[in-house]
Amino acid sequence: MKNTVLAFSRLNPAVIERLQAHVELIVPGADGGDVEAQFAAALPRAHGLLGVGRRLGRANLQAAEQLQVISSISVGYDNYELDYLNERGILLTNTPDVLTESTADLGFALLMSAARRVAELDAWTKAGQWQRTVDPSLFGCDVHGKTLGIIGLGNIGAAIARRGRFGFNMPVLYSGNSRKPALEQELGAQYRGLDALLAEADFVCIVVPLSAQTRQLIGRRELALMKPGAILVNIARGAVLDEAALIEALQQGRIRGAGLDVYEQEPLRDSPLFAMGQVVTLPHIGSATHETRQAMADRAVDNLLAALAGERPRDLVNPQVWRGV
Ligand code: NAP
Repeated sequence: MKNTVLAFSRLNPAVIERLQAHVELIVPGADGGDVEAQFAAALPRAHGLLGVGRRLGRANLQAAEQLQVISSISVGYDNYELDYLNERGILLTNTPDVLTESTADLGFALLMSAARRVAELDAWTKAGQWQRTVDPSLFGCDVHGKTLGIIGLGNIGAAIARRGRFGFNMPVLYSGNSRKPALEQELGAQYRGLDALLAEADFVCIVVPLSAQTRQLIGRRELALMKPGAILVNIARGAVLDEAALIEALQQGRIRGAGLDVYEQEPLRDSPLFAMGQVVTLPHIGSATHETRQAMADRAVDNLLAALAGERPRDLVNPQVWRGV
């Protein structure tokens, strides 16, 4: 008998076709019906869950009695409760690497856009406000040669650092859990404690996973350490940053600007950030290119099918629950 796989986000037709060759696939809402009701009805017989963007903690998985694996179409896995999955022996997989370069592109685009006021002046131009040569009130700040601070020099952090170092001649500082000798060598990157990095960098990019240790890592105290002309970029997770403290710092002109892809509450609605020209707000699109989203979906399906076949999936987040075949 085929295993049952329940999707918890939309899947593209090629992914659906591939899965249907191997498993009984349930995509809630595919027939136009109620997504939540169909998800709840199918959960007790699901052997595998596949998707992104849904909180699946202890409270949400009690009914999933057959569950063997959750395959997340993302690299971040803060939507899941690892302790609970480990307790139940449920495998969790993610999709590292395949989204690194696209997410770094987006991080750098936010940095550039905030520095040169790209989004703000695009709106200004389209609103017909360009009457004469722009005056200094609309000038931005340079990117090339400025100091780039990366909080979390992992895959994406290093890819952003390469763009800065080799594309824009930026000295690179980094902070994180551990020293990275190979990257120090490659990029000339220098390790700093978080406070020192915040005080020295002209651009600060947050690229750490959300965890109990990184929740609200950047709050009022940390923002106060930043240079007045500095720009903060967050492409990690909204909760790594105290959003109210950021809004306050921006309103008081204590930092120059921000480029944001992630927020404490998503989708972001009615935020004071919307009224701030010096802030670029994007709708969580770090990995959202056609090529990368396809690669992520393919990788997630590989992981899911391997796990259901009793093979060790390539991207196992919790290897401690792997018992082999
Ligand atoms: P990664 O390769 O695992 O890198 C994470 C880095 O964060 C590592 O260098 C790690 O240091 C550091 N780190 C972990 N915990 C830390 C802590 N408590 N304090 C300081 N540093 C810490 O992950 P990645 O692929 O670069 O992705 C990073 C995060 O970006 C993901 O978890 C996800 O939340 C986010 N992301 C967002 C988007 C988007 O659409 N905006 C897209 C992709 C990813 P060590 O190596 O020393 O442990």
